[in-house]
Amino acid sequence: MKYSLKIFTIFGIPVELHFSFLLLMLAIYLVAVLNLIPGVDVVVAVLITLLFVAVVLHELTHSYVAQRYGVEIERIVLLPIGGVSAMKELPKDPHQELMIAVAGPLVNLVLAVVLYPVFLLFGNSLSPSLNFLLYYFILMNFLLGAFNLLPAFPMDGGRVLRAYLAERMNFIKATETAASIGKTLAILMAIVGILINPFLILIAIFVYLGADQESKMVLLNTLLEGINVRDIMTREVKTVNPTDTVDEVLKVMFQHKHMGYPVYKDGELLGIITFHDLSPVPEEKKHLPVEEFMTRDVLVTSPDEDVATVLEKLNLNNVGRLPVVQDGKLVGIISKTDIMKALEMRKGRMSS
Ligand SMILES: [Zn+2]
Repeated sequence: MKYSLKIFTIFGIPVELHFSFLLLMLAIYLVAVLNLIPGVDVVVAVLITLLFVAVVLHELTHSYVAQRYGVEIERIVLLPIGGVSAMKELPKDPHQELMIAVAGPLVNLVLAVVLYPVFLLFGNSLSPSLNFLLYYFILMNFLLGAFNLLPAFPMDGGRVLRAYLAERMNFIKATETAASIGKTLAILMAIVGILINPFLILIAIFVYLGADQESKMVLLNTLLEGINVRDIMTREVKTVNPTDTVDEVLKVMFQHKHMGYPVYKDGELLGIITFHDLSPVPEEKKHLPVEEFMTRDVLVTSPDEDVATVLEKLNLNNVGRLPVVQDGKLVGIISKTDIMKALEMRKGRMSS
């Protein structure tokens, strides 16, 4: 990952610190050592470090189990918001998915359960600082494990639930069911929160949004899996010349009912022109060539790219279509509409 520093490799998995994380830790220790904020001393700084130790253990366990199932782990990166395991394709086998998902929270819970008796027996003989650190390390592990086992996306528990359901129904139905259980749980949590603790409402909102978004993404990726650009792209691309006038191109748009065209000349893709670019052009400028209004930095795709990635690109850049280029030549065009059509077809086929 960009801007991260590898600290060690274990089980062949590189563990990296993102530089924002490094800065944060540096800031915390600086505040602690210089006593800039009352109450934040070195013990607190160590405690925060321990929290990240618990997070690394959690991520490492996910990764370790995944690796046992043959999943390639690229790295684990620590960010200020937690840890991220970068894995190539997760297994589609529900049992394997379940084991990978449950392993992370389990290691935290086991740690809490094992350390708690140690704390009860020997806690008093430790120095007050060590006693404090041990107690909170146990509590953090317990909370981390328990919270992640909530049966809602994007928590591990959501994945566990989905995998459990997927052994009994098809993957899409399982994802939808898991998502609605997660949302119901969030609503219940919010109700309890209103009665007991407003902090729960915040968590409930987080859980609800996560369940909603994650399930949509999982569903999309599942539906689009295995579809490449070449499978659904439009091959006969209507292109326009850079010297065509705005008037002419607008006419073409109304005739063919396509809202965007590659601007192409002598085998070279010069840009892309959309209705969005042309509609604000005032009447007196409609005799000008479209090259003056086209977007020049064109994002392109290739026939071999998978459609899920293309959809991500489209959304990220807020564009409706991408020209498909192979060996420098324009071979097709793929639009959001094409992808949505493919989605609908898959959905109809897979849920029947
Ligand atoms: Zn996890």
